[in-house]
Amino acid sequence: MTAPNNHEGEKRRILVAEDVEMNQYLARHMIEAWGFDVDIAGNGREALVLVQQNSYDLVLMDIQMPEMDGLEATRQIRQLTDILKATIPIVALTANALKGDRERFLAAGMNDYLPKPINESNLLRIITDNLTNLTNMITTNQDQRQNILPPKTDDADKLYNLSLVYGIAGGDESFVNRMLQLFLDTMPLTLQEMQKEAAGQNWAQVGKLAHKLKSTIDSMGISSLKDTIRQIEQNGKKGERAEQMPAQVNLVESIMQSCAAQVKKDFSL
Ligand code: MN
Repeated sequence: MTAPNNHEGEKRRILVAEDVEMNQYLARHMIEAWGFDVDIAGNGREALVLVQQNSYDLVLMDIQMPEMDGLEATRQIRQLTDILKATIPIVALTANALKGDRERFLAAGMNDYLPKPINESNLLRIITDNLTNLTNMITTNQDQRQNILPPKTDDADKLYNLSLVYGIAGGDESFVNRMLQLFLDTMPLTLQEMQKEAAGQNWAQVGKLAHKLKSTIDSMGISSLKDTIRQIEQNGKKGERAEQMPAQVNLVESIMQSCAAQVKKDFSL
């Protein structure tokens, strides 16, 4: 594998600003495999600080994050007095591919846009498209990967499908285990917050938590919740159909808990 170097012969460095831990881990795994150094910021404010402290060749910026969102962080980076930092290529990462979003991202100063869930070939393309002075060829270690297969299980009653995780793992079983452990560690807290906000009828907050769970649900291939989690997100955002929300939140809770139990059993975690 050839690591891409900048003109000073140093390794290329990419900042990933993303609040969902499973997404952070996915992005890091893919990008490091291509020979880049990766730093992670958990929100826009951290991203702004890291950009001022370090030299990055590219920033991948989630839009919806706590503390400071990706649009505001981008606006502030564009106003930095250091011209090299102020002109860093910034690519938006977002699951909200709504009409007019691209224009909104560009207006905030972003260079490009990549819809989530991220797939490997699109991510590599967007990185190479947006890196300045990329002189060395990037080669992936795809060919050297041995294929590992998901453990044989009785698929009929499986609530999850790990084909995306296994596809990205490319033979790295510790990556699969780490992803599953992150799922088990982070999901209960989000569910708990969601139940709390639902009990307080804070539907906009419930919608935001649904946004967070959506990427977890997509990564874990929990297809039975694919539509429900999107309905909760949209209804929370628009303040509509509040009467449906309690039942929907309960459905999410119960399927996620059953799914976690299956994962624990299947992988002895
Ligand atoms: Mn986010």
